[in-house]
This record gives sequence, structure tokens and C-alpha cells, in this order.
Amino acid sequence: MTKKRRCPECNQWMAIDMVNCDCGWKAVKEAAPVVADHRCAYQHSGLRCPYPGTNSSSTHASTTWYCLDHYRNLNDLKRSIEILMEAEKNFIAVMEERIHWTIKLIPELYEKAKKGIRELSFKLFRK
Ligand SMILES: [Zn+2]
Ligand SMILES: [Zn+2]
Repeated sequence: MTKKRRCPECNQWMAIDMVNCDCGWKAVKEAAPVVADHRCAYQHSGLRCPYPGTNSSSTHASTTWYCLDHYRNLNDLKRSIEILMEAEKNFIAVMEERIHWTIKLIPELYEKAKKGIRELSFKLFRK
């Protein structure tokens, strides 16, 4: 006998190994193979924007994310490339600026946050 479970979306019974339902529900593992990567998706000539993706045009989790600057300038190629070029140069400064003020109040946390940004920068740019 086939084991059954309920569709999390419409609650109808379905075989346990079913990965999608008539209602359109899909098992998470069957969704687009997007790793939890909320980095800005903007890319140009092999470079990718290093900023965290904070804006997306859809409410879907698997959608494309962009940093605020790229999101605002998606239709402006020249500006988008400028943002990308400036991103590498200003990454540490911009990210440090974004550290929340409640963290800045606590020296240990502030140092830890800054160290994390430098490590991330090294990982992204190898320098
Ligand atoms: Zn369903
Ligand atoms: Zn970006």
C-alpha cells in the first residue's frame, strides 16, 4: 500500500513520493536549484556584484535578488556597470556603513562585524 500524505497547499491526499500536486504545489527539492544565495544577481563581463541582494521584484523566495542600487538601475546599463565597478572598490566601506547602530554600540560585536566584512571581501575578491 502506498503511503500518503497531505498536500501542504490544498490539503488533498497524495502519494508520499509525489513531488507535485494538481493544485500546483511543488516539493521544495523540486523547485529551481537555487542555493540560498541572496547575493545581488547583477553580472557583467564575468564580474558579479558583491552586495547582498535585498530587493526582488517578486515575493517568491526563489526569485532573483538585487542590491538596492542595481534594483533601482536595472534598466540603466551604464549606471549598473558603474555600480558594479564601484562595488569592489567601496565594498568594505559600504558594508561597514551598513552595520546596524545597535551593533556599533558594542565594541566586541562591532569588531566582529568588521572582521566578517573583511573576510567576506577577501573571499569575494581574493585580496
Ligand atoms: Zn495540492
Ligand atoms: Zn548589485
